[in-house]
Amino acid sequence: MTDIVVLGSTNMDLVAYVEKPPQRGETVTGREFRTIPGGKGANQAVAAAHAGGTVSMIGAVGNDAFGTRLRSTLEHSGVNTDHLRTVEGPSGTAHIVVDDEGGNAIVVVPGANATVDHLVPGDEVLISSADALLLQLEVPLAAVVASARAARAHGVRTILTPAPAQPLPPELLAVTDLLVPNEHEAATLTGRTDPREAATALLDSVPEVVITLGSSGSLYATRGAQPLTVPAPRVTAVDSTGAGDTFVGALAVALGEGRPVREALAWASAAAALSVQRPGASASMPYRSEIETQYA
Ligand code: ATP
Repeated sequence: MTDIVVLGSTNMDLVAYVEKPPQRGETVTGREFRTIPGGKGANQAVAAAHAGGTVSMIGAVGNDAFGTRLRSTLEHSGVNTDHLRTVEGPSGTAHIVVDDEGGNAIVVVPGANATVDHLVPGDEVLISSADALLLQLEVPLAAVVASARAARAHGVRTILTPAPAQPLPPELLAVTDLLVPNEHEAATLTGRTDPREAATALLDSVPEVVITLGSSGSLYATRGAQPLTVPAPRVTAVDSTGAGDTFVGALAVALGEGRPVREALAWASAAAALSVQRPGASASMPYRSEIETQYA
């Protein structure tokens, strides 16, 4: 089994569904409200666990009701939460207004995620025995860099999703093995909208890159070889939320099992294609048996 550690965010998504979003100073009546456990870190942890990995999460929740639910959601998916701290104050929340045209407006309040700015005793030991460390940018950069350095020191593969999109400091790129941006993030990092050009530019900083291309699949690039394009299965998408996180979680599991890159990418694509056919983020993440069936 692939042993995976995720350092990252846990958020409760507070979603109001409205016909039209309110303008400043306006009050509108919503149609429905849902609380949905999320955060890119937690989503990647759930995806990897469903895909068959042995997964531990490093992060923090608040000592509120959301924190209790976020922790139990992870545990329900089989994620080890021994390194998920409970801190004084609120959990991270994302306040989302979704309108009938599918547009959305989001306010993220980091809450407990802001306290994940360093490693605590035990975190490095956990990382040292993993096959891969999964990272995103929804917790303070200091902890992302510290954990990636710890992973590098122990020969553990580091996989970074550079979201939310922002310039990456050289000290983080220096300890990143595999960078997995979507098209938008790749363009933000390189100033190039062509994925092949963006991938080539990113190889100046990291040894391996996968750019996810939505329904067009993904592009893999490594130094000294022609880029590899892997198509996405043709499916009817109903909700692509969390597709990228499903892809990364499954990819980490497949690579950890020693599958060749092309096979691992196809396997991750099968997982992500299943997730876009169902509503929700973590709730839509497929289990290993389903991925195997889709992949076959
Ligand atoms: P999100 O932010 O919604 O989680 P993302 O923008 O990070 O997603 P995408 O590039 O949109 O990432 O999608 C990730 C992967 O999911 C793609 O590489 C592809 O394999 C799969 N995928 C996404 N959309 C579709 C689709 N419509 N049909 C099939 N596969 C899809």
